[in-house]
Amino acid sequence: MNTTFNIAPGIGGLTPYVPGKPVSELERELDIYDSVKLASNENPLGPSPLVTEALKDELHELSRYPDGGGFALRGRLSERHLIGDERITLGNGSNDVLDMIARVFLWPGREAVMSEHAFAVYPISSQAVGATIRVAPARDYGHDLAAMRALVGEDTGVVFIANPNNPTGTWLRRGELRDFLDDLPAHVVAVVDEAYTEYVDEPDYPDASEWLDELPNLIVTRTFSKAWGLAGLRVGYALSSLEIADLLNRVRQPFNVNLLAQLAAGFALDDEAHMREGVSFNACGMGQIVSGVHALGLDYIPSVGNFLCIDVGRDAAEVDQALLREGVITRPVANYGLPRHLRVSIGMPEENARFLEALEKVLST
Ligand SMILES: *Cc1c(COP(=O)(O)O)cnc(C)c1O
Repeated sequence: MNTTFNIAPGIGGLTPYVPGKPVSELERELDIYDSVKLASNENPLGPSPLVTEALKDELHELSRYPDGGGFALRGRLSERHLIGDERITLGNGSNDVLDMIARVFLWPGREAVMSEHAFAVYPISSQAVGATIRVAPARDYGHDLAAMRALVGEDTGVVFIANPNNPTGTWLRRGELRDFLDDLPAHVVAVVDEAYTEYVDEPDYPDASEWLDELPNLIVTRTFSKAWGLAGLRVGYALSSLEIADLLNRVRQPFNVNLLAQLAAGFALDDEAHMREGVSFNACGMGQIVSGVHALGLDYIPSVGNFLCIDVGRDAAEVDQALLREGVITRPVANYGLPRHLRVSIGMPEENARFLEALEKVLST
């Protein structure tokens, strides 16, 4: 890219992340007023009512800076994960943590290893700091750990693993992931992104945070954006060794997690039952959408997350546009190398039904 300015290496080649359009904007454009948004893997049940109630009492505090150390929230997370609070790094969403990781461990000449179809923020964060991206071809849409391992070399700074991955919903089993991590050279930082961990109900699905004491180069990231229903407030965190947490904190902005976000995350943790309820809605909704998609004779990528990638058998961007005219917002994923797939987030039962009806209509024309 040619610009007037001298810019940092990597920036010119970046394509900005394209977020879903806000519902209000879209409704105005299309003159539709009852649309359903199943485009960003948000929680259709919303956060716990404890959160929304409790935050009302905190609004008078808005002139204050938040606790820059996130003391209370890190304390809660420390109990939850049985890990010292000094090993927890809070982020303005887990994307913020991914950015910090890239800033500490990647620079021009260094390499980030990831899988084809992996979460879009990994290449963005890596390229923004001028690092080279090495992408291993996927196997059955999922991470091929052997292919990823083959790309790891002297210049590798970080390996990014999404378990489960977005947008594919594929996941890695305990044994294979642990073997891969054990086999990594000690200088390589492994990021295991567990943004959707709460949704996964597979006996062989690992909680990588249990390995932190044995693997000093491991970082596990978690978020309040999905199962906890707080995407709009932006809270996520990294669990790591003390040494890595100390490095991440050197680049962390002092007040990166805002006052309401810190409080909301704490209140959300007080109502785990609500989170679990959302997870069971998701399981039902996944069943509903999978059987609807089956009935339409379409293929899909089996998913353990709160979303499903459906092979619509044609250019999914066109199907997406046609669905928009029916008031249903989904996400085409050509930017992930999946031009015929449409990612739909699991909604409430009536939203899922709306989606399936609209999909049937759109595909029959
Ligand atoms: C949604 C998502 C996140 C969460 O991002 P936040 O910044 O915490 O909202 C992280 N990783 C993956 C793979 C995701 O899909």
